[in-house]
Amino acid sequence: MRGMHYVGGSLLVAVFLAGASPASGNFGSTKPGGSPTNQVSLANDKHHRVDFFDTTSDTGNAAQWALDNQFPRLDFTWQWVDGSAYDVRVKDGHYASQYFAWVNCPDGASEGGTNPDRWCFGQLLKWDLDHGLNSTGRRFVACHELGHTVGLQHEDEVHSDSCERQINPNTAPSTRYSQEDLYQVLDHY
Ligand SMILES: [Zn+2]
Repeated sequence: MRGMHYVGGSLLVAVFLAGASPASGNFGSTKPGGSPTNQVSLANDKHHRVDFFDTTSDTGNAAQWALDNQFPRLDFTWQWVDGSAYDVRVKDGHYASQYFAWVNCPDGASEGGTNPDRWCFGQLLKWDLDHGLNSTGRRFVACHELGHTVGLQHEDEVHSDSCERQINPNTAPSTRYSQEDLYQVLDHY
C-alpha cells in the first residue's frame, strides 16, 4: 500500500504493480519489485500460520480481524504461531516509508514453483506505523496485504469493492475481498 496522499499514488503504482498481469485477473505470484521490495506470493496450502512479531495492538487487531473475517471467505484457516515455522510474519515499526505496508518472500523462506504459481512459506509483512490510519484504514491495509500472501494482486477495476484496490485506506468503501477475488483464490487452491 502506498502513502495516503494522492501525490504518492504514482509511486505506489510503480512499486506495487511490478510483475502484475491484470489481463488475466488479479491473481498470481510476482517477482519482487520496487523499494521497499514488494512481492505477491501464493501460499503452500489453505492454512496460514501467522507469527505476530512484537506488533502493536492496532496492527495485530487489524490483521486478526482480516484473518478471522476475510480468510474464511477464501476458504482459508489460520493459526497464531510463535517461532520460525510460519507462512507469514507480521512486523510493524517506524520505517519512514511512503508506503503503508508491503509483503515479500525474503531470503531464507521456503519457495516452490515458478511465477505465476510460485508459493512462499516464510513471507514477511512489514507495516509502517509512520502513517495516520483510522480503524477502516487499518482493516483495509490488513485485508490488502494478507491478500498478497495468498496470491491476490492489485485490482485496477475502479468499480470493484476489493481491498486490493490502490486507494486511500482511510476512506475505503470496503475492507473486504471482492467476489472476483474469492473466485480466483477458491479456483486455485
Ligand atoms: Zn499492494
